[in-house]
Amino acid sequence: DTTHGRILYLEDVNVSFDGFKAINGLSLDIAPGELRCIIGPNGAGKTTMMDIITGKTRPDSGQVYFGSTIDLLRYREAEIAAMGIGRKFQKPTVFEHLSVFENLELALATDKRVRHSMVFALTGEEKDRLGEVLHTIHLADSAARQAGNLSHGQKQWLEIGMLLMQDPKLLLLDEPVAGMTDEETERTAQLFLTLKGKHSLMVVEHDMSFIRTISEKVTVLCDGSVLAEGTLDQVQADERVIEVYLGR
Ligand code: ADP
Repeated sequence: DTTHGRILYLEDVNVSFDGFKAINGLSLDIAPGELRCIIGPNGAGKTTMMDIITGKTRPDSGQVYFGSTIDLLRYREAEIAAMGIGRKFQKPTVFEHLSVFENLELALATDKRVRHSMVFALTGEEKDRLGEVLHTIHLADSAARQAGNLSHGQKQWLEIGMLLMQDPKLLLLDEPVAGMTDEETERTAQLFLTLKGKHSLMVVEHDMSFIRTISEKVTVLCDGSVLAEGTLDQVQADERVIEVYLGR
């Protein structure tokens, strides 16, 4: 079994939009518990890759596996989300008029166990998880605060918390520290280091000092495929990577 020890596996994936190859022979794999950063210039295919993994975009060819046995190309977007692949877009989308606690509670409502009930009655296990998540996202003292009154950074953490309520196996995050203060960025790094190991994470980010803090391995995408892979120091020293960032 060649896919053993991988939570996510892409092999020779191709996607064209009107004849333009947005994803061009992309192969990549993520180990369980790994935190992988994805960098690359605008138009490299980062968003399209996330769209493929989450079932939003269907590739023309190639393989996309979750774990060693689940062929993701056979499932729809909602089914993929229900399998434990959570995605966070760049802009935070929390319910502004609800409290932090209620936002986390509501995140469970998409779970089939409570979908058929009009009343939220958290089980003991869910209450414990909610408390744990509040702590992880640095909002334990803000549970009763209205989400609309949180800072930009706190809203981003809350949205990550909402994903965590579903206990995802893999989290895909798009520029999580964009627009954050230095202090918020540092606390987000702490948060990610807490998540690593328990969850697998794929993080698209431009902030190199943040990447250096959180990730052992970086993948550089360019023109729809992997240009380089390694530690941040390794890829930053790579002539081809330098050319892509400075030469264009
Ligand atoms: P990134 O996220 O790295 O900036 P994208 O995945 O958004 O890159 O885009 C990769 C390339 O594919 C870009 O050239 C973009 O213009 C093109 N592209 C993405 N989505 C579409 C689409 N729906 N229709 C046409 N072209 C698209």
